[in-house]
Amino acid sequence: MEMREGEQAAGVIVRVNGPVVTAEGLPNAHMYDVVRVGEGRLVGEVIGLERGRVVIQVYEETGGVSPGEPVVTTGLPLSVELGPGLMGAIYDGIQRPLNLIREQVGDFIVRGVEEPALDREKAWEFIPRTEAGARVGPGDVLGVIQETEAIEHRVLVPPDILGRVGEIRSGALRIEETAAVIEGEGGDRREIGMVQRWPVRTGRPYARKLPPAAPLISGQRVIDTFFPVAKGGAACIPGPFGSGKTVVQHQLSKWSNAEIIVFVGCGERGNEMTDVLKEFPHLTDPHTGLPLMQRTVLIANTSNMPVAAREASVYTGITIAEYFRDMGYDVALMADSTSRWAEAMREISGRLEEMPGEEGYPAYLGTRVASFYERAGRVQCLGSEAREGTITVIGAVSPPGGDLSEPVVQSTLRTVSVFWSLEADLAYQRHFPAISWLRSYSLYLEQLADYFSAEIGEGFLVDRGQAMEILQKEAELQEIVRLIGIDALSQEERLLLETARSIREDFLHQNAFDDVDTYSSLGKQASMLRLILQAHDSSLRRLEAGEPMEGLLDDPVRERIARAKYVPEEEFTEAYKAIAEEIRGIDQPAGGG
Ligand code: ADP
Repeated sequence: MEMREGEQAAGVIVRVNGPVVTAEGLPNAHMYDVVRVGEGRLVGEVIGLERGRVVIQVYEETGGVSPGEPVVTTGLPLSVELGPGLMGAIYDGIQRPLNLIREQVGDFIVRGVEEPALDREKAWEFIPRTEAGARVGPGDVLGVIQETEAIEHRVLVPPDILGRVGEIRSGALRIEETAAVIEGEGGDRREIGMVQRWPVRTGRPYARKLPPAAPLISGQRVIDTFFPVAKGGAACIPGPFGSGKTVVQHQLSKWSNAEIIVFVGCGERGNEMTDVLKEFPHLTDPHTGLPLMQRTVLIANTSNMPVAAREASVYTGITIAEYFRDMGYDVALMADSTSRWAEAMREISGRLEEMPGEEGYPAYLGTRVASFYERAGRVQCLGSEAREGTITVIGAVSPPGGDLSEPVVQSTLRTVSVFWSLEADLAYQRHFPAISWLRSYSLYLEQLADYFSAEIGEGFLVDRGQAMEILQKEAELQEIVRLIGIDALSQEERLLLETARSIREDFLHQNAFDDVDTYSSLGKQASMLRLILQAHDSSLRRLEAGEPMEGLLDDPVRERIARAKYVPEEEFTEAYKAIAEEIRGIDQPAGGG
């Protein structure tokens, strides 16, 4: 096999076991080095070194590869290319550009394709943000590029460089051209281009981690009001088929106040990932009207790609997310589905004949899952301007048979702080988003309390607490009704059931396909909930004052509350005041009472 620059002497394949290949005669190989396997130069990674043998996981189909064929190491760990051109790109798990490859060779990836992840020929307009003579260090902004209409790409001093700007250019530059020269203390000169490589299994450095302080606002009421995820937090969403997982992920991608979306498809059954490839490019960013792809990177593994590439894809995704975090952006990474990632781990581990843990998953499943989610967070970035950046990770899991006790769900729940429990039952009743209000949780409420008080008002979390209590009480009462019948309930309890219904139908239920209802600002969410609770308290008082039950249940104001969600944001304040006034009016009929 012909050798490329940096590659070292060839070893030889001694065994091929699906995606796992064993080779001999590579004394210089290190763990996690990228190797090229066989005459076809398939991409692989060293995952084991034992007694002179090198164990490799191969990211491409190994059919036809046989013992005796050569293997060379590149001496480099599995890395991604970072630089302008990432936005809007569609990659596979090891960052091969699917859109470019498709143009070249059609829909199926030909093995051994070596297409660079970022376009070498494209010229970008580089605008310097520093000048010759300035002292700079890791993370400082050298210049910016308008990468897409939506995103400004900040070219930063790499983490290991400190010195004085010797030269800085401006104008049209290709990514490999020198944008700046930095002269170190010792007189060394470093030419900085706009593309860098970063090993995917190593988190990118930052100055320090900060506690989450603001929510990732999604405009979805059950998420923002009931089970918020913090910017920099991590959430888990299980997705039984047809429960609305895709819609939730689309809503988050479109509406959430993350500036950049990294969507990692770890390979679904059937052609689901191909659906994402078809759908995403057509989504519009409702905030700007621009194509959503202008601030999105897609990492996609279709089901016909080998398992090892799925294993790599979450790392490729999170490394790209970190790169934009370091520029000071709020990034949301969605991984769909991490179960496929874990299954890839299981398959590789099986081939390695490792001691299996629970349900055949490797014993290190929990550690791997945790170390992935730990790369989420809110950080102070490197650099003198004290930028902050966040990565919020939303991991979908698809447990077989919806069984939440299985190892992937369990190890995910041990790591993340938010659980949105999508339930097939709710989807069946057409209650969307089908996120269970009883089973889901968010551990960020306390950390976000200051934010909510300052932005929405002190009463917001109190209202949320009361609404949750009413829903929990409803579940208990429904049990009693089921056993004994509605007559077992007091009048207060029947009013409570009515309010619970209203919280579910008028507040939690949200139609992603309705022009207005698809998004509610936090303020609108708080006001809608306030109206429901105000009506509840009012009806309890009127009951106590002797008003008949029927009138309270059929009160026309309930209908107005139910329609509030369809009132556009700009008219909502007026509508809110009018309804609140009406409730107050019936609460205290003219002439006192
Ligand atoms: P999954 O990805 O879990 O298989 P989908 O996200 O495709 O499920 O949702 C299945 C169907 O449920 C959708 O086609 C849509 O009709 C309905 N649906 C899901 N979420 C919503 C929502 N928020 N509003 C309205 N309809 C929804």
